[in-house]
Amino acid sequence: MVDQRAYNWLMARDVEKWTLLYDGGARYGTMTTNASESFNGVLKRARGLPIQELVSTTYYHCIALFLKRGEDALRWENDAVSRFVPKVMTILGNREAATRNLCRPVQINRTEFSCYDDKNIANRVLFGEDQCSCSCHSMVLYHIPCAHMIASLATTRCSHEPLVSDFYTICSYKNTYSGSFHGIPDITW
Ligand SMILES: [Zn+2]
Repeated sequence: MVDQRAYNWLMARDVEKWTLLYDGGARYGTMTTNASESFNGVLKRARGLPIQELVSTTYYHCIALFLKRGEDALRWENDAVSRFVPKVMTILGNREAATRNLCRPVQINRTEFSCYDDKNIANRVLFGEDQCSCSCHSMVLYHIPCAHMIASLATTRCSHEPLVSDFYTICSYKNTYSGSFHGIPDITW
C-alpha cells in the first residue's frame, strides 16, 4: 500500500524467506533480527575502539553471556520447578489465564475444535498426529500453544505442555550455552 514497486520487488522473492507467516515455523526473521539487535547493543559500546579491542570486547562479552546463562540453566535445573525455562512458563501462565476470557470451545470432531475469542472471532484448532495448529497462527510463529489450543485441550482433560517445543526446555537452553571458550593467545604464547 505504501509503495507498489517495493511490493512488486518483495512479491517476486520467495515469501518463505522473508515472512514469518510462510516460513514454515523456522522464524528466520525473529531469529536473525533478535541476534543482530543483541550484537548491535554490544557493539554500540565498543564501536569507537580500535579493531583489535573491538573484536576482543565482543569475544569476552560473549563469554560472559555464555557463563551467566549456563549458570542460570543449572540453577533452574536444580530448582526443578518445570522442564521449561522461566520465561516460557510465564508465557504459558498468561495464556492459561487468558482461557478464562474465552467461551468453552466446541468440539467439531475428534481432532478439530472451534474456539471463539473475546472479539467473537472463531479460531479453528486442529490436533493432527504430526502437527497441531490454530488459525490465529500463534503456534506456527512461537511453537507454544495459544489460549485457544489450551482451552480446547482442557475440555478433553489433556495437557497442553507436550505441544510446547523442546527448544524451550531447560535442557535445550543448557545445551545452547554449553560451548567452551579459550583465552586469545598473544604473541608470547
Ligand atoms: Zn489460537
